[in-house]
Amino acid sequence: MASKDYYELLGLQKGASDDEIKRAFRKLAVKYHPDKNQGNEEAEAKFKEINEAYQILSDPEKRAKYDQFGSAAFDGSGGFGGGGFDGFDMGGFGDIFESFFGGGGGSRRKNGPARGSDLEYTITLTFEEAIFGVEKEISVTRSENCEHCHGSGAEPGTNSKTCPTCGGAGQVRVQRQTPLGSFVSTSTCDTCRGSGKIIEKPCSHCRGKGNVRKTRNIKVNIPAGVDTGNVMPLRGQGEHGQRGGNPGDLYVRINVAPSKVFTRKGNDVYIDTHVSMAKAALGTEITVATVDGNVKYSVPAGTQSGTMFRLKGKGIQRVNSSGKGDQYVKVIVDIPKTLNKEQKEALYDLMRASGEEFDEANAPKKKLFGKNK
Ligand SMILES: [Zn+2]
Ligand SMILES: [Zn+2]
Repeated sequence: MASKDYYELLGLQKGASDDEIKRAFRKLAVKYHPDKNQGNEEAEAKFKEINEAYQILSDPEKRAKYDQFGSAAFDGSGGFGGGGFDGFDMGGFGDIFESFFGGGGGSRRKNGPARGSDLEYTITLTFEEAIFGVEKEISVTRSENCEHCHGSGAEPGTNSKTCPTCGGAGQVRVQRQTPLGSFVSTSTCDTCRGSGKIIEKPCSHCRGKGNVRKTRNIKVNIPAGVDTGNVMPLRGQGEHGQRGGNPGDLYVRINVAPSKVFTRKGNDVYIDTHVSMAKAALGTEITVATVDGNVKYSVPAGTQSGTMFRLKGKGIQRVNSSGKGDQYVKVIVDIPKTLNKEQKEALYDLMRASGEEFDEANAPKKKLFGKNK
């Protein structure tokens, strides 16, 4: 394998400064970037070469070895023997490239804009609040951009400079020697903690963090018909983003306390109503509680215990739509648990009138012409 001249590849002289190397690489990388040279194999090969050159020359330790032994030290054909530097990631020029150009679109740049985290808040509503809707104010503590420094972390009027350790990338490449070879990994820059910038005078309000914890009272308009488990997203009400990133969302999780009167299933409401044995047999008009107030309902003669009536449209408003659920009324016919003498007599009379067989000896003494009681 021919010895490569990394300096020549970058158009430099031996002894070029770190800045010169960086500038040369940046210029050539833009020129030969695969995005700009789609399908051009020559450009792709050139791009890999300059990337390789940069990886060696930008690392002081590798550069020293290269200066002493040439590229043979890195390709496993001599110099340091088979083990050499065969571990470095030739295919993966992504990291270096991202550090210079923000990954092409800027989105994957580690020190680029970062969206704020989403927050979750659980609110408990009464049954009535849930079915009719309510405006609530909730108190949320979140990270917000510091108003004093507008999130930069630098005291207004002072400058921040590009981090000299990582060159503004926010990340550094770390090489580890292992028995299997050497591996290059990327880690957050310690000097700037990933921001890519060194702040000369930290902001006096946020002490350089760029964000502060704030407790905000946020009005939440809860629509009619919500139920336990519903989640309302409040866009942009989560933690603020970093470095100009969008804020996260606030998810309000709804919990509804049960009603003492009604049982809710979706948008339908269930209620039990008690009717006496006689009224169930004879038919009767009853008053039924609904979520919108009392209504009259005619229970027809001969209604059996357990019969379910449907009051159409008397249920709960559907969230964000027209229409309501129904109310189901279950009739429970009460069998008297105790009977006075007159009630007993009346029931025996009922049995007699129905032609039922029974033991007359158990019946209360019949009134004779209404005289003896
Ligand atoms: Zn600040
Ligand atoms: Zn740094």
